[in-house]
Amino acid sequence: MSVNLQTPIDYLKGVGPNRADLLRSELGIHTYQDLINLFPNRYIDRTKYYKINALQQNNAEVQVVGTIISFREVAQKRGKRLVADFKDDTGVMELVWFRGQKWIRESLKTGQPYVIFGKTNWYNGKFSMPHPELELLNEHEKNLRSAMQAIYPSTEKLSNKGITNRVITKIMQQLFLETKGQFVETLSKTILGQLKLISKSDALFNIHFPKSSNLLSKAQFRLKFEELFYIQLQLILKNLIHKSKIKGFKFDKVGDYFNIFYKDHLPFELTSAQKRVLKEIRSDLGSNAQMNRLLQGDVGSGKTIVAFMSMLMGLDNSFQCCLMAPTEILSVQHYNGLIELCNKLNISISLLTGSSKTSERKEIHENLENGSLQILVGTHALLEDKVKFKNLGLAIIDEQHRFGVAQRSKLWHKNTSPPHVLVMTATPIPRTLAMSVYGDLDISVIDELPAGRKPIKTVHRYDNNRLNVFKFMKDEIAKGRQVYVVYPLIQESEKMDYKDLMDGYESISREFPLPQYQISIVHGKMKASDKDYEMQRFAKGETNIMVATTVIEVGVNVPNASVMVIESAERFGLSQLHQLRGRVGRGAEQSYCILMTSHKLSNDSKTRLETMVRSNDGFEIAEVDLKLRGPGDIMGTQQSGILNLRIADIVKDKAILDQARYFAKTILKIDPSLSLPENKFILQTYRQMAKYKNIWNYIS
Ligand code: ADP
Ligand code: MG
Repeated sequence: MSVNLQTPIDYLKGVGPNRADLLRSELGIHTYQDLINLFPNRYIDRTKYYKINALQQNNAEVQVVGTIISFREVAQKRGKRLVADFKDDTGVMELVWFRGQKWIRESLKTGQPYVIFGKTNWYNGKFSMPHPELELLNEHEKNLRSAMQAIYPSTEKLSNKGITNRVITKIMQQLFLETKGQFVETLSKTILGQLKLISKSDALFNIHFPKSSNLLSKAQFRLKFEELFYIQLQLILKNLIHKSKIKGFKFDKVGDYFNIFYKDHLPFELTSAQKRVLKEIRSDLGSNAQMNRLLQGDVGSGKTIVAFMSMLMGLDNSFQCCLMAPTEILSVQHYNGLIELCNKLNISISLLTGSSKTSERKEIHENLENGSLQILVGTHALLEDKVKFKNLGLAIIDEQHRFGVAQRSKLWHKNTSPPHVLVMTATPIPRTLAMSVYGDLDISVIDELPAGRKPIKTVHRYDNNRLNVFKFMKDEIAKGRQVYVVYPLIQESEKMDYKDLMDGYESISREFPLPQYQISIVHGKMKASDKDYEMQRFAKGETNIMVATTVIEVGVNVPNASVMVIESAERFGLSQLHQLRGRVGRGAEQSYCILMTSHKLSNDSKTRLETMVRSNDGFEIAEVDLKLRGPGDIMGTQQSGILNLRIADIVKDKAILDQARYFAKTILKIDPSLSLPENKFILQTYRQMAKYKNIWNYIS
C-alpha cells in the first residue's frame, strides 16, 4: 500500500490548515487513519423525500425537495436572522440562518429546485429548519453514491464553521480515492472464514458508503467484532502474562485454622455458591500465581464468611491477612463480626481506622512488623506508608467500587511480592461489562442467597399516601421490628436536601412521639463519632426508626430492621435503590421496601421503580441500569476509558462480545505467543497496541 495512514490529515486534498485544526480539536482526527476510523453514528435514506404537509412535530431529520420563493431579514434581540420561504407542491416552510447570512444570500438562487436536509422545528404554527444542508437537486442526484447516507459525529463548532456532514463525506471520499480503498487485513483467515466476515477493505468501504443494507450490516458486524476481539485479546494476554510473570505466595496447605473452623465453628451451612467460590479461591491460592480475583455477590449473599475463610487459608500458611472497607462504620462492623470468630480460634486481630488513637496505632504497627498480629481490619488507614506487614499474604477489599485501581496497587507494594488480592463487590456488574472492565481480573460470583431468606416485598407509593405508610410502620414497630427512612442527598442540591431531611425528621418525630418511639438520625454533616453512636443505638435496638441520608447505603447489618422507606425514590439510581433495599431482609422476618415518590415521574424513573418492584435480583437490576445509563456512567469516569468503544455497544452487542472473547481465548490457548503463521496479522496488530492508546490506531 502506497499511502501511509499515519499521514497528517492536513495533506488530504480538500482539508487545508483551518479544517485540519478543527478536525483535530473537535474530533481528535490527526491522521488519515483517524479519519478512516471516524465511524458514522447512523445512516439516513437519502432517496426518501418528505412532503411539507407530511412533516411531523418530532424534530426528526428530514429531506425535502422544493424551491426558495423569497428571502427576508427578521430583527431579533441581538442582530437579525435570515429567513427563506421554501415551498413544495404541498405547502410552505421556513429555512432559517442565524449566521453566514451574506454568503447564503449570495450563493442561493430562488426558483430552482433544491434538496434540503436537517432537523425541523415547529414554531409559530409553521415548520422551520435552521441551518439546513442544501444542494441543487441535480447535483444531489449526481452525488448520490448510495441510498444510505452516513451521518458522522459532529460538534456545534464544526457545523458553525461550515464543516457539515456533506463536507466530511467529501473528504472521506477523497481519502478512499487516495488510498484506492485498500487497507491491510487485521484478522486471521481462520476467523474470517469461521465467522464469514468480509475483508477489512470491504468493511471500511461499506461502513462509510454502504452499497446495500446487507453489506452495511456485514461491515458493522466485522468492525464491532474486531474492536471487541482486540480488547479481549489484550485483557486476556495481560492476565496470562501477569500469571506467568508475577509469582504469588503459594499457600500449600489447608491447615488447622481452616479445618477446625469448618468442622466446629461454622455458624451455618455454606450455600453451594459459597462453596464453589471458596474452591476457586483455594485453587488460586494454591497455585504459583498471584491471585487477582473479583468476588461479586448481591447484598446479603454472604461474602464476609468467604473472606474470613480465605484469610484462614493464609493463616494456615503463616501469612498475615488484611480486610479493607470503605467506611469507618463498615470496618467496625467487619471487625466486630470477625473478632467473635477469631476468639474461638485464638487468632489475633486488630482494627485500624482514621480514628484509632496514637497509642493503639503504635501497638498495631509493632505487632504487624513483628508478625504477632495475624489479621488487620480497617479503612484507607491501612494504605498509609507507616503500615508495614511482616508477611502480608492476602489482602481483601470490600465494596471495591469505592476504591480506585491506584489504591489496589498500593496494597501490592506492602510486601516484597504482591499479596493475593480478593476484591469483593455488592454492586452486581453484568458479566459482559465485568469481562470488559475487569478482564484482567478473574471473576467469581455468589449467585445464591442463603436458604430461608424471604424475598423483600417492594411497593411504590405516592406522597399523598404517607399516612398509610406511617400506619404500616407503626404496625411493624409494634411487632418489635425497626424501620429505616432514607432521604436523597446530592451535592448539587445539598441545602434543599438537608431541609427535606430535617422536615422529614420533624414530621416523623411528630407522628412517632417520645417516649413511645425512639428515633435516630444520621447524616453526612455529623461527626464520625456521633454517626457511629447513633448507628450503634439503632443496631442495638434502642431506637425504632433510623432517619438517614444515604450514608447507610453500604454494608450495615441490622437484621431486626424489616422496613426500608425510601423518600424521593425517583431521585436515586437503580443500583443505589437496590443497595438500600439490601439493608433489610437480613433476618428471618418478612421485610418490606416502600418507594415514595411524587406524581411527577420521568419515563426512566418509572422504569427504575417498576424494575425495583418486579425484581429482587441484583444482576437483573444491573442489566436494566446498564441499559438506562450506559456503561460509562455505571463505572464512573475512572474506568470508562476502556469502554470508550467506537462502534460496538457493550449492551447491544453482547452476543458479539461473547464471540470475540471466545475466539480470543481459543487462539491464545493454541498459540499463546501468537507465533503461528496464520496469526501473523493478529500479532502485527497486537504489537502495535503497545504504541497507541486508542484501539483503532492499531486496528487499521
Ligand atoms: P454480604 O455479601 O452482603 O457482605 P454478609 O456476608 O454480610 O453479606 O452476610 C449477610 C448475612 O447472612 C450475615 O448475617 C451472615 O452471617 C449470613 N450468612 C452468610 N452466609 C450464610 C449461609 N450460608 N447461611 C445462612 N446465613 C448466612
Ligand atoms: Mg458485606
